[in-house]
Amino acid sequence: MTIEKMRAAMLYGVKDLRVEDVEKPKASFGEVLTKIKAATTCGTDLKIFQRGYVEKVIKLPTIFGHEWAGEVVEVGEGVTWPKKGMRIRAGNSAPCLRCRMCQKGKFNLCESMLWLWGAYAEYIRIPSQMILVNAQEIPPHVSYEEAAMTEPLACVLHGAEEANIQLGNIVAIIGAGPIGLFHLLVAKKLGATVIISDLVNERLEFAKRLGADETISAKTENAVEKVKNLTAGNGADVVIEAIGLRDTWEQAMEMVSKGGTVLEFGGCSPGTRINIDAEPLHYGEVTIMGVFHATPRHFKSALNLIASGVLNVKPLVTKRVKLDGIEEAFETLASSKSDIKIAITP
Ligand SMILES: [Zn+2]
Ligand SMILES: [Zn+2]
Repeated sequence: MTIEKMRAAMLYGVKDLRVEDVEKPKASFGEVLTKIKAATTCGTDLKIFQRGYVEKVIKLPTIFGHEWAGEVVEVGEGVTWPKKGMRIRAGNSAPCLRCRMCQKGKFNLCESMLWLWGAYAEYIRIPSQMILVNAQEIPPHVSYEEAAMTEPLACVLHGAEEANIQLGNIVAIIGAGPIGLFHLLVAKKLGATVIISDLVNERLEFAKRLGADETISAKTENAVEKVKNLTAGNGADVVIEAIGLRDTWEQAMEMVSKGGTVLEFGGCSPGTRINIDAEPLHYGEVTIMGVFHATPRHFKSALNLIASGVLNVKPLVTKRVKLDGIEEAFETLASSKSDIKIAITP
């Protein structure tokens, strides 16, 4: 019997990504096999590529990538949905629904979360639990590329919901990478005035085109002072850190107004500790919160918002490459920073 092969980008370790021939998966009982039509690069992928990640979430070596959309090509026994030929997106996480966190409704914190990696390949196998709780059919007018961006948007929706952004709020975002820009799109749609800061001018220009009201060049300007100046000395109602560094986590707390909320969104390296000034926390009733990932409900509404045209995520894909060009794509993302998201087509 010959083993069928497929092309896939395997991550072996830090900065060690290789496109290889691997065994093509098959759909077993309860599973489906999907041909990937588009996958998108993500800040988390770049972070993992550059510095590694927590083993609970990704075990190496593995096929890399987690944002994708494709077409069902094989349906395992016992599967009633989806059908062969259907355009779907799924993943990258499926909560168990049974653990302590799931029972509390904190599905994003599931203690036995099923993570699905393998977007940078020709095919991906979808486990039954994923089909059950985190897979959707893509409406015909939505491109695979747009549908692939459901995952980051879901995480951002979760963050915006927790931070409780209100109509008329001033929102300051630190970082105009893909996640910062998704936050920008969502905050604008919620009726906020948005100030965004970054070190890279091209990204700030990009943010302006997406609707940012004010931009701060963190290279030449003092971001905290500028936010204060733009808000009559008060600070922003909501500050969102979208980088994942101690300095910017601390900076976010200096930008917030009395009664405001700091959303520490970017995950820091393990072991990172931060300094918090107790005074604004007590006398200013400042809320400091972290959020992690998203729940199936956020994935569903993210795809709905893309499909209805409420949020236009198309401009975030700034480059397209074939699977064999993926190593180069990550080198580009790591160095140039003017590309936002790169779409990979097998
Ligand atoms: Zn992602
Ligand atoms: Zn669970």
